[in-house]
Amino acid sequence: KDKILEVNDLHVSFKTYNGEVQAVRSVSFDVKKGETVAIVGESGCGKSVTSQSIMRLIPEPPGWIKSGEVLFDGKDLTKVSEKEMEGIRGKDIAMIFQDPMTSLNPTMTVGKQIMEGLVKHQNMGKAQAKERALEMLRLVGIPSPERRINQYPHQFSGGMRQRAMIAIALACAPQLLIADEPTTALDVTIQAQILDLMNDLKERLGTSIILITHDLGVVADVADRVVVMYAGKVIESGTVEEIFHRPRHPYTWGLMGSMPRLDLTRDKELSPITGTPPDLLSPPKGCPFAARCKHAMKVCQREMPETTQVRGSGSHKVNCWLEHPMAPAVEPPAEVVG
Ligand code: SF4
Ligand code: MG
Repeated sequence: KDKILEVNDLHVSFKTYNGEVQAVRSVSFDVKKGETVAIVGESGCGKSVTSQSIMRLIPEPPGWIKSGEVLFDGKDLTKVSEKEMEGIRGKDIAMIFQDPMTSLNPTMTVGKQIMEGLVKHQNMGKAQAKERALEMLRLVGIPSPERRINQYPHQFSGGMRQRAMIAIALACAPQLLIADEPTTALDVTIQAQILDLMNDLKERLGTSIILITHDLGVVADVADRVVVMYAGKVIESGTVEEIFHRPRHPYTWGLMGSMPRLDLTRDKELSPITGTPPDLLSPPKGCPFAARCKHAMKVCQREMPETTQVRGSGSHKVNCWLEHPMAPAVEPPAEVVG
């Protein structure tokens, strides 16, 4: 399949009073047309910073994209002008967030907010934009759209607001939707409905999705591929099947082992592994997980493991010295292999 997005060797930092925080360090991954890629990891691992960098929404200063490429449709978004970026945002790439109130305008009706993008990006007239807005409200499952279109965000429930935000995001039929913890604040039933909706829209409109989440249950439900981040780096990536059934990185083993299996509790933060991630003011020279890893060897402290393709796999990649031919054979703990 064709790639819609390719992130290559991306580095993003923030200036603080204590020095430079290296929030994203050499992140590479791609997204193909019509595919959902989940980026998972604990808070502070760089997943949100990565997605904001794609949209060029990093607050500059104190943040800045140090190096790397974000190729969208072959164009490097780190290099385009702010004006061109404004044309891309909302039209070709749209974003939804955990809290719809941060992106909905409280002083404008929901209908106007859907129509705004259509008028701006697609040169639609008012009547046509209104038709399309009604259609979008229907598509995301908002009842009585004719009445709802004239209401303000505060007149919507939490789940309805999330739907409204998705309607705004998808009105211009973007090629890529970035969803940052889109369902974290919602209760389990509504969460499932919103995820179904995203899946459905992906099928119908062919939108590619980047889903940022700490919730592995959500990932299993909707993603095609998974990118696992730790301390600003991608440490493992592969298909859902590969990551859930044959994970190769000790950090991923910890994540999988901590996943609630039988109950459907979805609000647990990922922090299964004892210890804390390294300080990104002075990240370690070697493997960022070494201080918490049961299997750490001398080489792990000394040198960063390279990205290795897992033997016998199609797209499964891992950054761990255990993949080296000279490393001792270490098997994942029993509770992880399913
Ligand atoms: Fe553990 Fe070493 Fe692999 Fe890092 S490279 S995860 S420290 S075994
Ligand atoms: Mg975040």
